[in-house]
Amino acid sequence: MDKSFKSATAPQEITAEDLELINRFTRKELKAEDVFTFSVILCDNEIDRDGERFDNLALEKLKDMFVGITGIFDHSHSGKNQTARIYKTEVVTDTGKKTSYGDSYRFLKAKAYMPRTESNQNLITEIDAGIKKEVSVCCSVKSYICSVCGNDMRSEKCSHIKGIEYSGKMCHCILKDPADAYEWSFVAVPAQVGAGVVKSYPKAKVTKTFSELEATIKKGKEVVISPQLSKELGEKLSELQKAAAEGEAYRNELTKETVKYAALALKGIDIETAQDMCKGLDIERLKKLRDSFSERAGRVIPLSPQLKPASKNHTDNNQFIF
Ligand SMILES: [Zn+2]
Repeated sequence: MDKSFKSATAPQEITAEDLELINRFTRKELKAEDVFTFSVILCDNEIDRDGERFDNLALEKLKDMFVGITGIFDHSHSGKNQTARIYKTEVVTDTGKKTSYGDSYRFLKAKAYMPRTESNQNLITEIDAGIKKEVSVCCSVKSYICSVCGNDMRSEKCSHIKGIEYSGKMCHCILKDPADAYEWSFVAVPAQVGAGVVKSYPKAKVTKTFSELEATIKKGKEVVISPQLSKELGEKLSELQKAAAEGEAYRNELTKETVKYAALALKGIDIETAQDMCKGLDIERLKKLRDSFSERAGRVIPLSPQLKPASKNHTDNNQFIF
């Protein structure tokens, strides 16, 4: 799982404690002038654009997991193939700031170092300038808990959808119990707004066939469909709408006939009662009802000779004119 986060780097003074921590990762002992250090925010407990957030315990676990993990400087000309290593982490609580769900805002802050070499001098200058970065952390978590029902969102027990409101509360996914931290990377964002921002999104599974779509919908799960399936679905919808309109017209005709025969067969029945009688019936039952009223109406009043004296076919009730 990749998580992106907007962060700003800040160059750090190198203390004796920093050097001691850094030298746990180096083969030869480095002096303060040999290294460049900076701090970066890796992730926080706010709901992100994927509708997910880490819980506080997860941040604490990630704090330990990210120590020693290497970060890469992606997509930056000066940072190509450069790496930095995290040597210290802490979870910081900002008591003056609340998350969107009302908890105190917490974030995982890391300190990283890189050796001062000629090849990474440009990158160091970039970081020194405090250029904004998009930090991406890659880690795995064991639980994806639904904020509404408390079940794992991947299980059958949860039918909620991230981003949808339930009883006034937005459903989101709580990432718990991290299993591993793999890497982190960051992209230098040029000063121009919106230029060159690279964000990582988890890829949603794309549904391509009707049967797959049907199965997903039955589970009440979120679904992303392919453009082709979307087109097919649109065509299918038009067909169904046409069929539904035809069905509706046929049903109206059938109801009219049934009501007419009912009025003849059952003397004194009012039109509304007869219409109500037809309402809950499916087409087959409605046909049977029409036929039986039609037969009864024929017995009560022998209509055909009067109404259609010229007809040779007396069984053809459809020819009756009222
Ligand atoms: Zn749920």
